[in-house]
Amino acid sequence: MCMNSSLYIADTLVTMNPGNDVLCDSAVLVERGVIVDIGPRDVLVGRNPHAEVVQLENCLLMPGLINTHCHSGLLRGTAEGLPVWDWLQQYIDPMHRVLLPEEAALASRLCYAEALLSGTTTIVDMWRYMHGSAIAAKELGIRSMLVPYVAEHPDHDYFETLYTNEALIKEWHGEAQGRINVWVGLEHLFYAEPNALTRISDLCRDYQVGFHTHSNESRFDVETTLKRYSARPIEVLEQKGLLAAPNTLLAHCVWLDDLEIEILRNHNVGVAHNPISNMKLASGAARVTDMLAKNISVGLGTDGEKENNNLDMFEEMKSASLLAKLNAEDAAALDAWDVCRMATINGARALGIDDEVGSLEVGKKADMIAIRTNTPRMTPLIRSGKYLNLHHNLVHAVQGGDVAMTIVDGHVLVADGKLQTANLGEIIEEACRAIQPLLERRDRWIERSGLSINELDQ
Ligand SMILES: [Zn+2]
Repeated sequence: MCMNSSLYIADTLVTMNPGNDVLCDSAVLVERGVIVDIGPRDVLVGRNPHAEVVQLENCLLMPGLINTHCHSGLLRGTAEGLPVWDWLQQYIDPMHRVLLPEEAALASRLCYAEALLSGTTTIVDMWRYMHGSAIAAKELGIRSMLVPYVAEHPDHDYFETLYTNEALIKEWHGEAQGRINVWVGLEHLFYAEPNALTRISDLCRDYQVGFHTHSNESRFDVETTLKRYSARPIEVLEQKGLLAAPNTLLAHCVWLDDLEIEILRNHNVGVAHNPISNMKLASGAARVTDMLAKNISVGLGTDGEKENNNLDMFEEMKSASLLAKLNAEDAAALDAWDVCRMATINGARALGIDDEVGSLEVGKKADMIAIRTNTPRMTPLIRSGKYLNLHHNLVHAVQGGDVAMTIVDGHVLVADGKLQTANLGEIIEEACRAIQPLLERRDRWIERSGLSINELDQ
């Protein structure tokens, strides 16, 4: 529970402040969900005799991870082996046609539980029937940007619409002490008719909310946009006014040319880099180091359970590092501290909330995680000096299962590696029961539609 005043003491604080400072034998004082002091353990203990002391034995404390692109879902391991557009048409869109609101809500509970247990404190979720997602986020306590999968196109009349998106904004934006936020979503540029793009831009302006969509994910994506619009996707988004929202966050951005990178920089657009999804769907390797060199806010995202197949942001960190090195054929590409920043403060910056979360600094919200350090994979752990390896361990060694404690807004949501805010066993049982009927309904829809994958591909 959130006490008035709690003092978290850890051997190591990884602050992710502008200097990436690592503090030893230090403490963080939290009052009413906000970090009010950081300093040497003995000093803070002496100064705050009445604070509840939380001694994090054999743990390091760092900012919670920010998953900048995810989808709740129940299709883990059932949508395999196809490139992105075939995969969308064969497995994913038919699922959306038959999905029920109660299944969508259950998927969000499962997703947020998995995220919190593996150290994610803020999640961007693009999903369906998101009233249920909002209730799940409120119940489990995660900070969330809810982004409905909107389509405004006759071929996709089974999706969310700008009408349902607006209703969700009215009901949920800013709820749960500001932990729940609602942005305007769009599945993809191809899922909207031209006049809908103007309405998206108007909606973002009227409610002062952000905009999120997928862009430049595959070569097919870029080639088809060039055929339809005689321009590349980022140019089209700019022409249609979609980069002028209070915040714009684009997922993937794998196939970008230099001009598109310049446009992203000029509009201060955030990018959600999803290396595992990009590898699994054979989409390609994003130009992450080029974007970082232009000071573009690149965060990390897991994408959904069907693209990944888990929501472990530490795996995403490792994959981002490895993919960048492989792609550049340079073992020094993408520095480990840069990866740590992408998963924390850069992710916050991509969402426009870096003044609130993303680092352990006085005045920020207490969104923090404790990671066990007395494990073989974290040994040796060298916290300072010439042989410092802490950042390399965080990027290449730690796993989500090493998270001992997850705190959002000063509320302890995971303690001793166990979810405190919901019955995890019950969520897992319900999800297991739900998947078979969902897959069977999807198959029946595909049979009735009479379309084969080859026809769908045309
Ligand atoms: Zn996605």
